Parts: sequence; structure tokens; C-alpha cells
Amino acid sequence: MVDLNRRALLKGRLRPGSSPQTQPIRMPWLIAEDAFTDRCTRCQACQQACPEQIIIRADGGYPELDFQRGECTFCRACADSCPEPLFRDAGEAPWQQIASMSETLCLAHNNVMCRSCEDSCEPQAISFRPQAGRVARPLIDPDLCNGCGACVSSCPQQAITLTKTSEVPYGG
Ligand code: SF4
Ligand code: SF4
Ligand code: SF4
Repeated sequence: MVDLNRRALLKGRLRPGSSPQTQPIRMPWLIAEDAFTDRCTRCQACQQACPEQIIIRADGGYPELDFQRGECTFCRACADSCPEPLFRDAGEAPWQQIASMSETLCLAHNNVMCRSCEDSCEPQAISFRPQAGRVARPLIDPDLCNGCGACVSSCPQQAITLTKTSEVPYGG
């Protein structure tokens, strides 16, 4: 069943401040944001362990993900390196976030041929719908998107961002 919150995000109907989407995007399998910021010692072990080098030192010295640098491969090197109990078990869902696309920025939505994001998406969550008399436009399937972020850096317009669909249901 499709989460309506995810659909709303894809259509840009949720506003900043109205949902967890305004929270920073951090590593997969993390405990809830409040518990994380309480307990993370900002030791940077996760940043040094990430083979994709997508973890950056951000506001307050806390680690955040920068998908302009690459994608998350769900390798769990960050979780394995962390000396604190801040990560959930590997058997649980890594996170609740999906890619969303700005129709204002997207070239194809402005009738300019572009399909750069399509090839970057391993789960094939991005498809292009033919439009009569116009170039095909991309759509992101919220049920297929795993939030890996691979599409973000592939877009020449920086039209794609990752957005949390809800907070993880754990207190940590
Ligand atoms: S799971 Fe792997 S690729 Fe993803 S943030 Fe952690 S270390 Fe980096
Ligand atoms: S790569 Fe960016 S500009 Fe090109 S179709 Fe995808 S979202 Fe649009
Ligand atoms: S975040 Fe990953 S799975 Fe989702 S649309 Fe982008 S490339 Fe595909």
C-alpha cells in the first residue's frame, strides 16, 4: 500500500517545517534524531569509515550525508565503526526516505531532453512517461525508491533531493 505522505512529498505538497523532511539526512539504520544528537560524541569514526565518502561533518559537528558526493551502498561500515549504540539492527529497514524532484528545476519537465537520472537508479524507481508533443518526463516510484541518493549527483540541474518520509519509530 502506498504511503500518502510519500506521494505528497513527490508532488511537493509538504512544506518545510511540517514534517520530518526538514531534519538532516544522516546515515542509514540510525536511531531517532533526538536520541542520536543526545548520544553522538561527534568522534567522526563513521565519517572516516564510509568507503563512499558521503558522510560530512555538518552543523554542530554531527555527521550528515552529502549525496552530491555519491550514493549510499548500505554497506554498514558507518554502523560497524561507531563506538556508541546509535545504529539499529541490520535486519530492520535502513531508513524512511525517498528522492523527490523539483519540476521547476528538472530539464525534462521544462521540455528539454534529459534522462540522466534514469540510468543511475539501480532499483529502476525512475521511469519516463511519454507526453504528447513534449519530451518524456521522469516520475519517481515511491514504492521502489530505497533512498540511496544515487540519482542526486547524476542530475545536472540539482533537481533531486532526498527527503525523510517519517521519523524512525524507535526511541533509541
Ligand atoms: S552504509 Fe556505507 S555507504 Fe552508506 S553512509 Fe554508511 S558507510 Fe557510507
Ligand atoms: S536528471 Fe534531473 S533534469 Fe534530467 S530528467 Fe532527471 S531530474 Fe530532470
Ligand atoms: S534515491 Fe536511489 S532508488 Fe531512489 S530514485 Fe534515486 S537512485 Fe533511485
